[in-house]
Amino acid sequence: MDSPIECPRCDAPIPPPAKVCLNCGHLLASKPPPEEALRGMRASRAAAKILVITLILYMLAVVGTFIYDHLL
Ligand SMILES: [Zn+2]
Repeated sequence: MDSPIECPRCDAPIPPPAKVCLNCGHLLASKPPPEEALRGMRASRAAAKILVITLILYMLAVVGTFIYDHLL
């Protein structure tokens, strides 16, 4: 993990803590934003919301049917 990274522009070694090439000033690309992970999280959250709404509607239907059958 501590091996120096090579600058993609000038091939100069860049020590791990540095984010900028000391030779040419090239800014090292930091980790790409986890867009896929974010999208997946958002999708699963939406899916969970849909599941909860479906469950609530189902329970309302069951309770409604029960009331309709037994109490009316
Ligand atoms: Zn460089």
